[in-house]
Amino acid sequence: MTKLLAFAELKDGEARNVSFETVSAARQIDESAEVVGIVLGSENVEDAANQMIQFGADRAVTVTDEKLANYTSDAYTQAAMAVIEQEDPDGMVMGHTSSGKDLSPRLASKLDSGLISDITGVEGDQFVRPIYSGKAFEKKSIKGGKTFVTIRPNNIAPLDKDESRSGDVSSVDVEIKDLRTIIKDVVRKASDGVDLSEANIIVAGGRGVKSEEGFEPLHELADELGAAVGASRGACDAGYCDYSLQIGQTGKVVTPDLYIACGISGAIQHLAGMSNSKVIVAINKDPEANIFNVADYGIVGDLFDVVPKLTEEIKAQ
Ligand code: FAD
Repeated sequence: MTKLLAFAELKDGEARNVSFETVSAARQIDESAEVVGIVLGSENVEDAANQMIQFGADRAVTVTDEKLANYTSDAYTQAAMAVIEQEDPDGMVMGHTSSGKDLSPRLASKLDSGLISDITGVEGDQFVRPIYSGKAFEKKSIKGGKTFVTIRPNNIAPLDKDESRSGDVSSVDVEIKDLRTIIKDVVRKASDGVDLSEANIIVAGGRGVKSEEGFEPLHELADELGAAVGASRGACDAGYCDYSLQIGQTGKVVTPDLYIACGISGAIQHLAGMSNSKVIVAINKDPEANIFNVADYGIVGDLFDVVPKLTEEIKAQ
C-alpha cells in the first residue's frame, strides 16, 4: 500500500488551512494510500494531529520540541527526516508556503528524490503547476524515488471535517542538535486582519487609492466581507501600505474565491499573483485598463464612489 505524509503547518500553535489541503492532495494522489499527518511543533501538536485525522488523515506522527517553536531549516529538517526514516513513505505533500518552499527541497535532495513545487491540481500521476506567471500550465510527474510536492494554498479544497473520525497519534523522539540558527524572539508587525495567503476574499488596492488614507474604504469593505486587504506594488512603492501586502510576481501569490481589485491597472507582474483567483472584480476609472481583461465583473468608475456603495449594500443585507 502506498504511504503518503501530509505536512501540517502550525502558526501560533494552530494548524493552518493548507495543512488540511495537504491531506486532500495526498488522497487525490492515491485514493487508497495510507495518509499520515506529520506535525512538528512545540505546543498544541497533539490537537493539530487530531485535526489532521478529522480532515481525512488515517493517523498522525508528531515531534514536540521547544526548538520547533518557530521554523528553522536545521531543526525542521532534522525532525522531518526522523519521521521519514521511521515511516519510509512513498511521498510527502507540503504547502507551498515560506517554510514548505524551504523544507521540501532539503528533504527531497537528502533522499535523492524529485520535487514538484507549487502545484494547483493532481491528475492521475501528473501534477499541474502554473508557469510563465500563470499564463500557462504544465503537467509533470516523478519517475522514481519518493514523490515530494508542494501545493499552492487555496487550490485543492480540504476534505470535509469529520469530528467523529479518530486515528492513532504517535510521537517520535528526536535529539535536535547542532543548530546553526536559533530564533530568540519574533517581533510581528501588528495585524488585525485576515491572513492574506489564506484569505477566501481579498480587497486589493493599487496606485489609484492615491494615499495611505485612501485604503480606508477598502479596509471598511474588507471588514464587512471578512476579507484580507492586499495591494499592488504600485501602492507599496508609493508608500500607501506595507510591502507585506504586495501581491504579484515579487509579492504573494493568492488564489481567493473572490478578488476585488480597486485602482489597479493589471500589469502582468500583478496578474502573476492573482489571475488564478476564482472570481475577479475590477474597479477602475479607465475602461481600457488591462485588469478588465482578466476580470469576471468590471465596474468602470471612481473607486471612492463605488467601494463605499458596495460596503453600504453589503451592510444592508
Ligand atoms: P498603476 O499602473 O499606476 O495603475 C493605477 C490604476 O488606478 C490605473 O489603471 C488608473 O486608471 C486607476 N485609477 C486611478 N484613480 C482611480 C480611481 N479614483 N478610481 C478607480 N481607478 C483609479 N506589481 C505588482 O503589483 N506586484 C508585483 O509583484 C510586481 N512585481 C514586479 C516585478 C518586476 C521585476 C517589475 C519590473 C515590476 C513589478 N511590478 C509588480 C510592478 C508592475 O509592473 C506595475 O508597475 C504595478 O503593478 C502597477 O501598480 P498599479 O496597478 O497599482 O498602478
